[in-house]
Amino acid sequence: MEHTKIAIIGSGPAGYTAGIYAARADMHPTLFAGEQAGGQLMWTTDVENFPGFPEGILGPQLMDTMRKQAERFGTTVHAKNIAKVDFSARPFKLWSSADKDAAEPTLVADAVILSLGAQSIMLGVPGETEFMGRGVSTCAVCDAAFYRGKRTYVIGGGDSAMEDTLALTKFADSVGVAHRRDAFKASKIMQERVLKNAKVTPLWNTVVKEIRGDDVVKEIVVETDGKEEILPADGVFIAIGHKPMSELVAQTVALDEHGYIVTRQSVTKQGVEHAQAALSDAGIVAFPSMTSVEGVFAAGDCVDIRYKQAITAAGQGCSAALDAERWLESQE
Ligand code: NDP
Repeated sequence: MEHTKIAIIGSGPAGYTAGIYAARADMHPTLFAGEQAGGQLMWTTDVENFPGFPEGILGPQLMDTMRKQAERFGTTVHAKNIAKVDFSARPFKLWSSADKDAAEPTLVADAVILSLGAQSIMLGVPGETEFMGRGVSTCAVCDAAFYRGKRTYVIGGGDSAMEDTLALTKFADSVGVAHRRDAFKASKIMQERVLKNAKVTPLWNTVVKEIRGDDVVKEIVVETDGKEEILPADGVFIAIGHKPMSELVAQTVALDEHGYIVTRQSVTKQGVEHAQAALSDAGIVAFPSMTSVEGVFAAGDCVDIRYKQAITAAGQGCSAALDAERWLESQE
């Protein structure tokens, strides 16, 4: 059975950055890339907001580069998916999908970094997957600038939809906000900002039935109060929520009410409580990326209810690797 100092579960920007830092600290980490190696950036085309690439870089290429960098310093990357964990005693036990019914785990680890990612919730309508990155987006912060002078739609009625709408109004000619109810659920202040913007048209009681186009999106089919309509569209931003990929550890580490893993730097009430409990005499939070289980750390979108950017995930991956290294040293 393999024994590693640091096991990293997940291979988005958080996981690979944790790998780079842990490997450069001579910790010989083992990274399990999982079924969707590379994470959400594998579904994007141009990434223009990751520092260091003035001309932009394709999402899959960025992830390939990160993996190579992690491997170059000694991270062992397994294509395997971790299906079961036991964090009740140290060393922590991890089972891959192929071994999940075996008594003996696939690997044991002195510390674990969870970088499990999150998924945008999708509508599940025809055209949505086909046109992802070619007119369909789940990240206005990333993609709004591509829609200068265009006709765009945001789907959803929560704070994410309001934020995406406001981001788009800086570039697009028009932003329709299609919501399935007759009122938004977002905070009042965000609703007001959206509704008073001259570029915005709310489409109440409206569901999107289909996204159509040729190479790129050209139109959407919507249904409002039972009546179908075809609307010309260049961009469709789906903002109906996110799902953190935390099922693997749902019974093992503390999650918040949205399913995000709680660490001492989570921006939620639970995160603040964990941070307070970990305050040192000097008034500094010890091991900020630690979860409710000592020795288990978490980083990236599975923790981050607020930003969910590749660069914030990478930054958190760095913090988790540094915390894991220092925590392991403190155990010696
Ligand atoms: P929410 O769950 O708050 O909102 C999702 C919206 O999408 C709802 O209006 C919902 O409609 C709609 N929706 C869900 N599923 C579908 C579907 N299948 N078809 C059509 N519409 C659908 O998610 P958010 O991502 O907006 O926010 C998550 C959390 O993060 C919230 O607590 C929010 O306040 C917070 N947040 C805060 C921000 C800020 O403070 N600036 C910014 C972004 C998020 P319905 O209302 O009918 O359920």
